[in-house]
Amino acid sequence: MTVLALALALVLVLWVGVLLAFAGPLAARWREPVLRCPVLIVESDDWGAGPLAQADALARLAALLQRVRDRSGRPALMTLGVVLEVPDGARIAATGCTEYHALTLAEPRFDAVRAAIQDGTRAGVFIPQLHGQCHYWPPAVLAAAQADGSVRDWLTAPEPAATEDLPAPLQSRWVDASSLPSCALAAETVREAAAAEAAAYQAGFGRAPQVAIATTFVWNDAVEAAWSQSGIEVIITPGHRATCRNAAGLPDCVDATMLTGERSLAGQTYLVRDVYFEPALGHASQRLVDGLLSHTRQGRACLVETHRFNFLQTLDASLATLEAGLNAALTACPNLRFISPVELVRAIRDRDPDLIETRLMPRLAAWRARLDEIPRFRRVARLSGLSLPLAWLERAI
Ligand SMILES: [Zn+2]
Repeated sequence: MTVLALALALVLVLWVGVLLAFAGPLAARWREPVLRCPVLIVESDDWGAGPLAQADALARLAALLQRVRDRSGRPALMTLGVVLEVPDGARIAATGCTEYHALTLAEPRFDAVRAAIQDGTRAGVFIPQLHGQCHYWPPAVLAAAQADGSVRDWLTAPEPAATEDLPAPLQSRWVDASSLPSCALAAETVREAAAAEAAAYQAGFGRAPQVAIATTFVWNDAVEAAWSQSGIEVIITPGHRATCRNAAGLPDCVDATMLTGERSLAGQTYLVRDVYFEPALGHASQRLVDGLLSHTRQGRACLVETHRFNFLQTLDASLATLEAGLNAALTACPNLRFISPVELVRAIRDRDPDLIETRLMPRLAAWRARLDEIPRFRRVARLSGLSLPLAWLERAI
């Protein structure tokens, strides 16, 4: 009996030790808000200044979204991560690639693109968000063009450029990746650029930007501070923050991880977007349903990332896959709600009882469903036997 009691005590001590070792991530997932119903937000980046074919793609997207409605009758929403300028190739070529000049979204040549964004916004299906003045850091692209003929050709092309064609490191706006590893930008430079792009966004869309998404998800504290001064309340993240491009050109120097509802140092609320849905890359409609179901089990909103290139390269097929995915999501979760990122953040901040769960058992169920994502926790729980009481908890819930 004494031996058994001792063994039991040792096991309990071991479990307490495991829980203490993972106390930070376990507590963070308990604090993270739990939603009362499935929420789906489709986020699409890179729209704005650029190829004129966007106008037709946006019009067809808006029509599609209006055909799909949640139980309240609200249409499906798509956020548009907007860029406000592309290079003015002819003018840059005239300077021998020594000066940067831009074509902004405000120019008459982009009338049809702007009108398509405004029509969808008025119809309640598009929500513009700030992706950046441009999808690159102009001095970095100009410097890279001196050594790289393909960058020079891209920068001096006579037609409005597609930023997807730039080498990936140069698509990061908030670092200088003209040579690798990238260099950080001066905080004052970032502040001035962020203020200028927020002003340009306000001039173009009639209101200050509330939500920002760093291009290629590379940004840092200086950018968040600058965004804060420009009125940005919400930052879309992939759940971590890369602050540089490494020697191989990949996003790196990760200095923070974040969960939905956590705050930046500058006070903005983070949202996490981590379901990738790119029909042009072969992603099927089921991917959207799977992402929604797993996030709903975790009591989280499902933020889906899908880029403009899907709707420029394979428009018909991408529209069909998106519509099939949205309809399948409604079939899988009939109480699904379409809401905007700002609405989600306001509900979290206000603890809106309509959307935020407060009952213990559903909160426990969501917390349990979140634990397996903690690095090493699942393995340690299995080896220590802690997975047994967790499984019991899951069954009890
Ligand atoms: Zn982008």
